[in-house]
Amino acid sequence: MKSFKPESLMMTHGYKPELSEESVKPPVFLTSTFAFKTAEAGKQFFEVAYGIREKAAGEVPGLIYSRINNPNLEIFEDRLKLFDGADDCAVFESGMAAMTTVLLEFLKPGDLLVHSSPLYGGSMHFIMHYLSKLQVSVIAFDPGEETSGALEARIQASGKADKLALFFLETPANPNNALIDIAACKAIAQKFEQPNKRVFLAVDNTYMGPLWQHPLKHGADFSMYSATKYIGGHSDLIAGAICGTAEVMPRIKGLRTMLGNMASPHTAWMLTRSLETLTLRMERQNATAQKVAAFLNSHPKIGKVYYLGLIAPEDPQYSLYQKQYTAPGAMLSFDVMGGEPAAYKFLNNLHLVKLAVSLGSTESLAQHPATMTHVSTPKEVREHVGITESMVRLSVGVEDADDLIFDLSQALELV
Ligand code: PLP
Repeated sequence: MKSFKPESLMMTHGYKPELSEESVKPPVFLTSTFAFKTAEAGKQFFEVAYGIREKAAGEVPGLIYSRINNPNLEIFEDRLKLFDGADDCAVFESGMAAMTTVLLEFLKPGDLLVHSSPLYGGSMHFIMHYLSKLQVSVIAFDPGEETSGALEARIQASGKADKLALFFLETPANPNNALIDIAACKAIAQKFEQPNKRVFLAVDNTYMGPLWQHPLKHGADFSMYSATKYIGGHSDLIAGAICGTAEVMPRIKGLRTMLGNMASPHTAWMLTRSLETLTLRMERQNATAQKVAAFLNSHPKIGKVYYLGLIAPEDPQYSLYQKQYTAPGAMLSFDVMGGEPAAYKFLNNLHLVKLAVSLGSTESLAQHPATMTHVSTPKEVREHVGITESMVRLSVGVEDADDLIFDLSQALELV
């Protein structure tokens, strides 16, 4: 049997019309609980759901209660995991719910967490202000340290090497598009494993996934998403998702059941609808972003443009880009010469592009990282990673490329 590509399966996979009056599309299962045919069936469903016994070969876990499982959540999860080549997937009520569930499940007091820098502001805030209360030690590293030997040396020197429990990466980094080598991090993680202690590797794949980067193929245990972004893709919902290996996913789903931070059936239904056009949308966004980046890169009022499609072959990050990514994507940042006043003037004069945070949606969005998404990132970190007062971040949507360039161009003329 031919194995179809994920985009060919997004309309049908994981849904049986015969279970829903032959409806071609899944209905929204707005129910909190599910009727058991018999008490014995209910008992079996609970045994599997609570890990009291392993699922028998061919046994389909029964529906119990919508905090534990629900058809809309399961259809979405069965589809999304195809892109990442994952064993399983779990959908959450937000990207932050997904990220924090991984951090809480795979870290305990006294453990060491290693994370790339910069991270999305919310993840950074949780690590700095919440995990510190659990006495979790933290090493933040810059792109390149994972391949130069510097990161391994820092872990060795920390006195906590035997407590290393989790790598948490964001690549490309938001908003400067800096790249981290996932396979190199995996190799370091493995060096610090002990006979009964794995060191897990989690990647926030929001910026490029699920099309342009597949972290599991490079050794990660989890590929995590703010599904609010490309996966939802229409700026009309908040959601998160984790795709992962069979080893880690039961723990993720177990904590999700206890925290109750799963997505609602309605959100899962909307996400499932969005998956049908995911590849179409993302390919169009990627093609348009390349034209927009070329325009910005040659504009006299623009300084540095941070875009994967502009990495020169002689740049040390080029081979990593080629190894880890299938396209440059639709996220770019650039410096509008003249500092914050110039960047604000530019933003205030955009018409087609909306001035808003978030990314990966059908409409193009622009914002000012230093005073918006990354305002809570310490100033010295911002300066270190190039988040200047001049920087604008642009998420390219599905509009016509020439119209977008016209809008950017007329706003730059007014700067
Ligand atoms: N990770 C990244 C890279 C993000 O950009 C965001 C949101 O902007 C999140 C995580 C958090 O996701 P959510 O807003 O869906 O909770």
